[in-house]
Amino acid sequence: MKALIKKRRNELKEGLREEFSQLGNRLGREAVLVSLALEADPSSEVYRNSIKKKGESLGVRVKLMEGNREDLRRLNRDPGIDGIIIHCRRENFLEYSSLISPEKDVEGITPLNLGRLVRGEDGPRPATPLAVMEILKVLNFPLEGKMAVIVGRSIIVGKPLIFLLLAENATVATAHSRTKPLERLTSQADLLVVAAGRPHLIKPSMVKEGAVVVDVGINVVDGKITGDVDPQVKEKALLTPVPGGVGTFTPLMLFSNLALLLRRKLEGKTSHNSD
Ligand code: NDP
Repeated sequence: MKALIKKRRNELKEGLREEFSQLGNRLGREAVLVSLALEADPSSEVYRNSIKKKGESLGVRVKLMEGNREDLRRLNRDPGIDGIIIHCRRENFLEYSSLISPEKDVEGITPLNLGRLVRGEDGPRPATPLAVMEILKVLNFPLEGKMAVIVGRSIIVGKPLIFLLLAENATVATAHSRTKPLERLTSQADLLVVAAGRPHLIKPSMVKEGAVVVDVGINVVDGKITGDVDPQVKEKALLTPVPGGVGTFTPLMLFSNLALLLRRKLEGKTSHNSD
């Protein structure tokens, strides 16, 4: 499976490189993405630098900045900035994400863009759920009529994923920390997506024979990256790897959203109308 994931990653990268080159010609400059740290968080530095590197390999200029909500408002108004990613503490996420211009929202997290997702209208989508959908394409897993169970209901992963799976005609159930017993739900899933942030939460006994299990979790245990699913699950289901699974696609999805926003901008469309 890792080889298929790599192949798809390379195809996506190639497509995005080509697209940003064409968009750059139409814009008369490189696309520009700002990664704005609203609060100091040394743990996000590695992530921010990796986004910068990835952007530059695709022909996108990524500026790493520190600032406050006034700076964010200024970036929203600046015609030379095409996309904005914010970094802040979890408890401030809802407040700050509401301040991003929907036209520059490459993470698909503003109230307007999340609303568009619920309404089935086009727009940028949160990157990790998009990455899950990409893995399902790699696996050639037809969703129509399937029972999908998502473990985790965060605003950036579990909740938006519900609507992406519903749009593909899956039947969707969501579990969370108060779901008891968890295995009653997970064992019914044809597709189980786990985004709980709990290392090896899902054991083989909790999974249906022959299911597809997408492990979104990224946890560091004894210095090693570990998923939310016990690797023994591989004995009875098709399990995506960690690392080298969903995380392979997540940063690329940010740039795919940026390309979509730029196309909309060049066509004179705003997020406020869909024609
Ligand atoms: P959050 O902590 O925001 O959400 C975790 C969710 O899991 C919550 O809904 C929580 O329930 C639920 N949960 C926690 N413990 C249990 C449990 N024992 N049983 C059932 N449900 C449980 O995490 P995120 O959504 O931000 O991230 C989830 C995981 O995905 C993390 O490991 C993160 O590192 C990883 N991640 C990976 C990415 C990738 O590209 N691969 C990108 C983004 C995140 P409740 O709501 O009740 O608290």
